[in-house]
Formats: sequence, structure tokens, C-alpha cells
Amino acid sequence: MHDKTPALSAALADAAGKAAILAEALPYMRRYAGRTILVKYGGAAMGDASLASDFAHDVVLLKQVGINPIVVHGGGPQIGQMLERLKIASAFIDGLRVTDRATVEIVEMVLSGSINKQLAAAINRAGGTAIGLSGKDGGLIHARKLERRRRDPESNIEKVLDLGFVGEVERVNATMLETFARSDIIPVIAPIGVGAGGETYNINADTAAGAIAAAVRATRFLLLTDVAGVLDREKRFLAELSAGEARAMIGDGTVSGGMIPKVETCLEAVDGGVEAAVILDGRMPHAILLELFTEGAGTLIRGAPQARGVT
Ligand code: ADP
Ligand code: MG
Repeated sequence: MHDKTPALSAALADAAGKAAILAEALPYMRRYAGRTILVKYGGAAMGDASLASDFAHDVVLLKQVGINPIVVHGGGPQIGQMLERLKIASAFIDGLRVTDRATVEIVEMVLSGSINKQLAAAINRAGGTAIGLSGKDGGLIHARKLERRRRDPESNIEKVLDLGFVGEVERVNATMLETFARSDIIPVIAPIGVGAGGETYNINADTAAGAIAAAVRATRFLLLTDVAGVLDREKRFLAELSAGEARAMIGDGTVSGGMIPKVETCLEAVDGGVEAAVILDGRMPHAILLELFTEGAGTLIRGAPQARGVT
């Protein structure tokens, strides 16, 4: 027999490496089979075409191996760009955008009309059967006006901030999502809620995703973002965070800005029956496969103590 050429040997070694990776993924696939994984898609992963295509393929792979993925997406930057293009000026209170009637119309157009359909189409192109929904479809997300209060540091008087049509989740129609779980359909959800009077609410995507994760008792709630995960005061990545540690980090300002609603919604989700929530780096290609099918890639926040990955 002839000796193998160096190129062939290298290709075989490469294939063996790939086969080993697939074999190692098997116990994780079994662990999550039949379970629901809620993925909040946003941050950097959403802006980059190649990462977006990887993401769509990963979601299809999950469904293919018998896992039920549900995707909730954000879109803050795209909303800002469209408001600018249409020259709709926004008022801000304490740095928070006031969502008036004209603004919420744009919010709905961008989230539910544009981003939602692009994402559903990307998943369909990758071989899946995605259906794009907003919280208005099938009464999926019933919302009420978010009440935000602020204490004036000088007078110490608490005042209610009126942010317009910014809502919080009141109720999720989980039955509809259970129907999808039993089918080929992958739901892709825009964080828009409907009020009691039929009014439209803009809901923070992290918060909406957490509420849906709790409503369907997801096994994992994954939040893709543009940092490695939750970082400590010295900017070191934390592989795991207890609920107490997470609260302390919000309290002392180590967790700030956009990371606050993420960590808060993770805590609420695990309180609400989600097994564990993970904040992970959406800039990594195939971030969700790495998190689910290896020993983990992001910062895990869990409810009751339990092992990560294979149990
Ligand atoms: P997304 O678009 O994914 O919602 P955000 O910008 O809203 O992203 O939130 C993520 C940001 O939170 C990070 O880019 C980082 O600047 C900020 N952040 C604040 N505190 C922390 C922390 N302790 N660890 C990691 N990121 C943090
Ligand atoms: Mg954010």
C-alpha cells in the first residue's frame, strides 16, 4: 500500500478531530432533547452577516436534534437609526427614551416588520421553518405600561416617570408556544406587547425574553451579547454567578448599563422556573452550540444548585 500524502494525512487528522467533537456533543444533545431553549438574540451577533448566518444554522441544528428553540430578538440600534432617518425627535428622561405614539409606531415597524422577518428568513434559508411573530400575534405577550419611579436626590420625593408606550409583560400565551414545540416550527418573537385596550407597547427585549423563558419553563435561557459574559470589577470573566453575587454586583455598580436588565431578567427567570440562564458572547461564531454542547461558554446564573451540562 502507498503511504498517504501529507495533505491526505492532515485531512484525515482534521476529520478525526471533527468526529471527536461530534461524539463529545452527544451526551449534551441527549440532555437537551425535548427541552426548550430560549435564545435572546441581540448585540453584536445581530449586526454581522456571517455571525447572523451561523446563528440561523445553529438554531436549525437545535431543532433538528430534537431541542425546541424559541428566539426573541432586540433591535435598539436599528430603531435609533430609523428614527433618525425619519427625523422623529425623541424626548429623554434620565437618559431613557420617551416612546410617544409616533415613536412606538416606528418601534413596531422596525422590530416586527423589518428585523423579525429578516431573522425568520435567515433561519428558513438555513433549512428551518421559522415563523416571525410579535407579542401581538395570538395574544402572545399581554403587556401593561411600565411604571418607572425615581427618587429626587434633593427633595427625596419619589416621582413617576412617564416613558410613554414602554411596557412590561403581564402574561404570556405559553399554549401557542407549546404547539410550536410539538411541530417543526421555530418561533421568532419581536418584543412588542399588546395592552388591555389594544395599545402597542415596546418591551425591553431582555425582559420580554426572560418572561417567555419562565412561561415555557425553559431549560436554558441564553442571552447573546457583545461581551464575554458578566465581568467582575477587574474585568475578569465569571463562568458562574450565584443569585446573591449577582444582586450584590448590581448593588455596588459592578454590573451597570445594559447588563443590569440582563442580569435582573436572568434572576427573575430562574426564580420563575427556568433551570439556568447564561449570558454569553454573541461575537463568537456558533456561540449557542459552544454553550450547549460543550462544558459551557458564558456566565451561568442558576436557580437551585445543579450541575452544568451533562447530569
Ligand atoms: P445588548 O445589545 O446585548 O443588550 P447592552 O449594551 O445592552 O447589550 O449590554 C451589554 C453591555 O453591558 C456590555 O457591552 C458592557 O458595556 C455593559 N456592562 C456593564 N457592566 C458589565 C459587567 N459587569 N460585565 C459585562 N458587561 C457589563
Ligand atoms: Mg441591551
